[in-house]
Amino acid sequence: MSLFRLTAHEAADRLRRRETSSVELTRAALGRIASVDPKVRAFVSVCEEQALRQAEAADARLKSGDAAPLTGIPALIKDNMCTAGVRTTCSSKMLESFVPPYDATVVEKLAGAGMVMLGKANMDEFAMGSSTEHSAFFPTHNPWDLARVPGGSSGGAAVGVAADECFYSLGSDTGGSIRQPAGFCSVVGLKPTYGRVSRYGLVAFASSLDQIGPFTKDVTDCALVLNAISGHDPRDSTSLPVPVPDYAQALVPGLKGLRLGVPKEYFVAGMQAGVQDVMEAALVRLQELGAEIDRDVSLPHTPYALAVYYIIAPSEASANLARYDGVKYGFSAKEAESMWDGLEKTKQYGLGPEVKRRIMLGTHALSSGYYDAYYLKAQKVRTLIRREFDRAFEKYDALVTPTSPVVPFKMGERMDDPLQMYLSDVCTLPMNIAGIPGISVPAGFVDGLPVGLQIVARPLAEETLLRVAYAYEQATDWHKKKPPL
Ligand code: GLN
Repeated sequence: MSLFRLTAHEAADRLRRRETSSVELTRAALGRIASVDPKVRAFVSVCEEQALRQAEAADARLKSGDAAPLTGIPALIKDNMCTAGVRTTCSSKMLESFVPPYDATVVEKLAGAGMVMLGKANMDEFAMGSSTEHSAFFPTHNPWDLARVPGGSSGGAAVGVAADECFYSLGSDTGGSIRQPAGFCSVVGLKPTYGRVSRYGLVAFASSLDQIGPFTKDVTDCALVLNAISGHDPRDSTSLPVPVPDYAQALVPGLKGLRLGVPKEYFVAGMQAGVQDVMEAALVRLQELGAEIDRDVSLPHTPYALAVYYIIAPSEASANLARYDGVKYGFSAKEAESMWDGLEKTKQYGLGPEVKRRIMLGTHALSSGYYDAYYLKAQKVRTLIRREFDRAFEKYDALVTPTSPVVPFKMGERMDDPLQMYLSDVCTLPMNIAGIPGISVPAGFVDGLPVGLQIVARPLAEETLLRVAYAYEQATDWHKKKPPL
């Protein structure tokens, strides 16, 4: 088997047995990138030289015997996490040549654990989008069908893993941006509890919703990466000061005694028939594994989540993006007649249409006279949604839903229809609103296109997610299928 096909834990085992080296793994990944990335375009930057240097250092560390579980494993980082000395663009003209002077905490942690960073992953500009078509540079293609989208906004990070260009990657999830592309590309993607992972050095989109999490080839890898990035960080006051369990301990077979709820509101009108069939088969499988399944769960506020999200996220974005004024850093329009003219032109030429749409929506929702009607009301409904989940988790250990009601759509198909684009996230937005964790695992295909199964649990119950996901994965082999590249 080609080295690039290995999962991260398989590659790590070979490193520990001295059957391969980090330099060999890195060369295999770089070779794979050279052969398939021109087709899928997951990378905004490839850091070849730096990666090989890091691999040599990792090999030395492995020899010395003080290696961490992921030492020497090549990875990909979404381009909205700061990397010292490496361009961090957010796939925006605004930050096209921005080179941060520091690493995001997650990058620092992984580097400390011996990561080899292959490069930075394409995304929707500032993480606003569901298809990676809103990148200011180029769209990323779905490896299962190059004419279709990989999902978004972390499309590059999902594709890097699905196309075996890297062994794992990091994405960010504000309203589904890890889980939806994981589902669309048939890889594992986890959004941790709000506060589980530090966001220091993550370029802010909507600060009360953003979380960083892993994309991996299987659930075991997901536990390993989560171990490496979780924990309190004094530089992010929203990160939770609670101990981190060893997530690998959650990987046990069988689901005896576990109560799973299936909320009916997630089987929405507009859900594709094929997705429904995949879900039925997945529920049968979970039951065979010993889980008790209740299909009669109702979360009646679910339909409001989309509206709440599209008030809160743009409102926070409009504040966060005010910093791109052409003065401090980033793109700056030089031909300006005055300070205000320069500010306007910087935003006019530096930002793409979806980002402008969000800033306008947010500015409107926060403006005097509309604040109470939109923003304040959205915050109240947010509380109702969170309480509804709290109540559900008194009865169930986890909830199961489709990751998206649709399979990957054709490129261009939803670009002129923002509402249709927003609708592909109806099943993933509520978890960000409630701050609870969710995972998407490969669950099957409809006409060759991937479908994801989403598992959701109470705050800080990532172990439950991993347990259900692992048992399901061990009983199926969807995660072993590879796209025809
Ligand atoms: N697709 C959603 C949006 O456009 C979510 C994006 C995200 O999670 N970053 O806002």
